[in-house]
Amino acid sequence: MACKAIIVAEHEGGAVRDITYELLGLAHKLAGEAGWNAAADIKAVFLGNGVEKLAGEIAARGAAEVIYIEGQALAEYTGDAYHRAIEEVVKAEDPAIVLFGHTPNSWDAAPLVSAGLDRPLATECSAITFDGGKALFTRKVFNGKFVQIVDLGGAQPLIATVMRGAAQPSAPGGGGSVRKIQPSFAAGDLRARFIEIKKGETGAVDLSQAEIIVAGGRGVGSAEKISVVRDLADSLGGQVGASRPVTDMGWLPHEHQVGSSGVTVSPKLYIACGISGAIQHIVGMRGAGYIIAVNKDRDAPIFGVADVGVVGDLFEILPALSKAVKEARGQG
Ligand code: FAD
Repeated sequence: MACKAIIVAEHEGGAVRDITYELLGLAHKLAGEAGWNAAADIKAVFLGNGVEKLAGEIAARGAAEVIYIEGQALAEYTGDAYHRAIEEVVKAEDPAIVLFGHTPNSWDAAPLVSAGLDRPLATECSAITFDGGKALFTRKVFNGKFVQIVDLGGAQPLIATVMRGAAQPSAPGGGGSVRKIQPSFAAGDLRARFIEIKKGETGAVDLSQAEIIVAGGRGVGSAEKISVVRDLADSLGGQVGASRPVTDMGWLPHEHQVGSSGVTVSPKLYIACGISGAIQHIVGMRGAGYIIAVNKDRDAPIFGVADVGVVGDLFEILPALSKAVKEARGQG
């Protein structure tokens, strides 16, 4: 049964990953531009073992059909198993476009699917539009200094990995169905074998998924004073980010570094404190939904990308902000 768009849904820790709903939102936007029938033409492929309930959640968020491939071989991600299973669905459904999230699993799986099907791939897309019936893929290149618009040509399906924040998530609603199938291969047929997931020793910081980030720069002054940034992050339920000098000087571990040689983030809210706004930092955070900058230098370049700029001493502003947030939340 042919469809127009297939999104590759993901789950983690017993929940559907948010990027899944952003991909569905993007597919609906494309359906509007291309004149597809969204109620029939947008499907999701979902892989796992024992996660049928999650497949139902995806069907209730805008997928006409969730093709749930269930098997022991898919219980944990391996590129070998996932690309084979996804390719089987894509061949059967013959879509015009296949959308992956730009996530660690899909960085791996999307090129394998592209190579397996011998079809073109655009990675790290920040937008996709249909223009005169042709899909155009927007990518930021050279540290975000240039925007590249890619035409992948006519050989379908076109395949893309999509950055977080490229589209609004699909809204709850819609009565999509779930079709459960089994992969054509068994775990024993695979060359790759899942062994274990090891968390980094410093543990638990994944800024790429954070919705709120409060980031400290050299202006914070020392490792001890990072607590002022952490207090605000904690009061907002967010994570702590950093500019490179902060991690180079060991005030925070490297996993907190945002920028061209750190993590690229797209939280809903990014608060930059004592960060000047060098291009290498900006490229990592300008995809944030809303940016607040606190800096005592009114000419700091960070104000050029900020929605709200506060000129002042972070050691006065951050504690006052933390206090106000705690009071507003009844924690004061
Ligand atoms: P500074 O530029 O020193 O700015 C400190 C700011 O704090 C100033 O604007 C100052 O006005 C303000 N300030 C001081 N005291 C206070 C106060 N009390 N209250 C309020 N404001 C105050 N950088 C990254 O961040 N991420 C990267 O991934 C990255 N990768 C790089 C890769 C390469 C190849 C290179 C060459 C550089 C890279 N850099 C990266 C470094 C980058 O060029 C900048 O040097 C760095 O971002 C500056 O960090 P900063 O803004 O914290 O420090």
